[in-house]
Amino acid sequence: MTLQSRLRDVENRLEQACLRSGRKREDIQIIAVTKYVSLETAQAVVREGISHIGENRWPNAKTKWEALKEQAVFHYIGSLQTNKVKDVIGKFDYIHSLDRLSLAEAIHNRAQMLDIQVPCFLQVNVSGEQSKQGLVPENVEQFILDIKRYDRIRPIGLMTMAPYESEPESTRTIFRALRHLRDKLNELSILDEPMLELSMGMSNDFEVAIEEGATSVRLGTVLVGKEEMEEG
Ligand SMILES: *Cc1c(COP(=O)(O)O)cnc(C)c1O
Repeated sequence: MTLQSRLRDVENRLEQACLRSGRKREDIQIIAVTKYVSLETAQAVVREGISHIGENRWPNAKTKWEALKEQAVFHYIGSLQTNKVKDVIGKFDYIHSLDRLSLAEAIHNRAQMLDIQVPCFLQVNVSGEQSKQGLVPENVEQFILDIKRYDRIRPIGLMTMAPYESEPESTRTIFRALRHLRDKLNELSILDEPMLELSMGMSNDFEVAIEEGATSVRLGTVLVGKEEMEEG
């Protein structure tokens, strides 16, 4: 399948999911996850009009960021080690994986040095899988209170990864739980500005995520394909 036909196919499925759930297409941002593909493919994606790029490791993202930073918005979607914060903050426009206080402190300190604000998604482990990163849902409220002192961080929404399911419908409860958690947190008025965003849905389950309120879907394989690449 060519890149163009994959984009068309994803766009159709996305519009269908919007129709089914009474949502507006323009309320959903596609983030093209380019971690499995070359710089050339990432450039082709941007040429096709998808200007939000997601990457999960700085060493692999570096050449893409350098080539595309003027044209694209960059999202850091992978787990972020504290000692990698200096590489990423100031380059990536959004962080999707804020899940612990030590990381919040490191991001804040770096952002203060650069005199910038950093919009962040709080990553939540809704499924409870051991292998998944993220805050326990019950701890997110306290986490929001704890990061208030790091005023360079703007918590703009929640992010989660659902377990891979052969039947995508099985992920619905996870996405619904994340939406309910966001709505509940907004009602508590512990936030300076409401968290509007939900980063959820990947290749396997993005339609269900949209039906449950996703504002950003992170699409790798289904959108840009997967290429054999050298590690590095
Ligand atoms: C790799 C990755 C994606 C995209 O994965 P696909 O299943 O290929 O769409 C989305 N989100 C995160 C956090 C990822 O690491």
